[in-house]
Amino acid sequence: MNIFFIASEATPLAKTGGLADVVGALPQAFGKPHKTTVIMPFYRDLIMKSGHEIHALNRSVTIWIDGHERVCPIHQIKINRVTYWLVEQDDLYNREGLYGQHGGGYADNLLRFVLFNRVALELAAAAEQPADILHCHDWQTGMIPLLLKTQYRHRPGLEQTRVIFSIHNLAYQGIFPADWNYRLGLPVEYFHADGYEFYGQINCMKAAIVAADAVNTVSQTYAQEILTPEYGCHLEGFLAQHKDKLTGITNGIDTDIWNPERDPFLAQNYSIRRPNKGKADCKQALQRHCGLDIRAEAPVLGIVSRLADQKGIDLIIPNIQPWLGAGCQMVVLGSGDPAYEKQLNHLAAIYSRHMYVCNDFDEPLAHQIYAGSDMLLMPSRFEPCGLSQMIAMHYGTLPVVRATGGLADTVTNYFQSRQAGTGFMFNEATPEALDKVLRQAVGLFREKPRVWSRLRNNAMRQDVSWTASARSYIMLYNRTRLKAL
Ligand code: ADP
Repeated sequence: MNIFFIASEATPLAKTGGLADVVGALPQAFGKPHKTTVIMPFYRDLIMKSGHEIHALNRSVTIWIDGHERVCPIHQIKINRVTYWLVEQDDLYNREGLYGQHGGGYADNLLRFVLFNRVALELAAAAEQPADILHCHDWQTGMIPLLLKTQYRHRPGLEQTRVIFSIHNLAYQGIFPADWNYRLGLPVEYFHADGYEFYGQINCMKAAIVAADAVNTVSQTYAQEILTPEYGCHLEGFLAQHKDKLTGITNGIDTDIWNPERDPFLAQNYSIRRPNKGKADCKQALQRHCGLDIRAEAPVLGIVSRLADQKGIDLIIPNIQPWLGAGCQMVVLGSGDPAYEKQLNHLAAIYSRHMYVCNDFDEPLAHQIYAGSDMLLMPSRFEPCGLSQMIAMHYGTLPVVRATGGLADTVTNYFQSRQAGTGFMFNEATPEALDKVLRQAVGLFREKPRVWSRLRNNAMRQDVSWTASARSYIMLYNRTRLKAL
């Protein structure tokens, strides 16, 4: 198949979260018979910094939008077997943040991404070999399915093309004022409640759901959860109307990048065969780096996360002082909500030998936390899939998670399955429930090192690679193509 991935971020070029990891890794996992091209915006300064060789393609796409003619040159990068096409438009994409700054989105985000969507469709239409599948990711590509079914319907090169839309996080739907409709030339015949209208506004996620040939989310539990009012973000009824085309496929992680045996950022590499010494060295290096007391017996609790309500940071904060008082240490890497950043930094300033906070986006430190911690905290209120818990398990760090979405699908709770456990789970989204399970986990860490080693072994042995998921996606593509015949 000739497959196009269209997305707003991809590792290793530009990343704000798990979406980038998925778009970076999944195409590489498809294997030889398929050709995959990733189309994304050219965030010039950021992408130049990644050090990859960029080729100007001597090719551009011209789009008339918002009263202007925009000529978008296309650049190319090759990473292993996958080709990246990067859409240049410096005034729109070469900015400080990918989507906005200081927690807010750019006011012209709809212009930025509808332009990107149109250029991507033009590139797919002009491809040497007709595009079989356009695989779109999240609201930033949400207009593509609808444009393909309307304005691009009879476009030569796209007649046989099918479109898949992946929801990586339903909480971000891409909602904008209706006056953009005419400025951007959107297919307004679909601007109604059964289309992409949402309380008088434009909703990119709805546009995708209504028009895509297949919709999937990134875990099976989340695919069920989003049909309920608790998790549906006001789209549960609308999703229910389209549930025949909704499936769930759990993400994997890129085990070339996330590999404790070869990870260049670690003080000491280690393998599943003998993890103890390597992990102990990584823990010591992490404690030193963070200015914490160097104590092998202190349980180190790691957090690598956006600091957003979704991630249950408010369940952690009230517990921090008691945990530190009980001899735990804590390392937090993440940025986001300024209120959470302030509270965490305040505590780290008071307990500087027991707690460290870094609000940067720091890839090496993330690797060091996954390796050097004993447990990873991820008490999410909702979690479409979650990659951090899978990375942690692969590094022998046991996740403490809330039983929701992909966390429920990928972690096996020790307290339910003593033999097969790979982490610890709780249900109620309360600080008390998190505290209870963490205290049990810390007790096990301190008193039953052999059980802990077994759990660590279970966690490291779990297959978190993309192999099975890539197979499921290829099956989904094939089913979608057959259905359309
Ligand atoms: P989400 O996509 O909701 O943010 P995921 O668990 O799916 O959460 O993916 C998060 C990814 O982003 C992981 O690869 C994690 O290591 C990484 N990450 C999150 N915050 C940071 C940070 N501050 N620095 C480095 N990596 C981070």
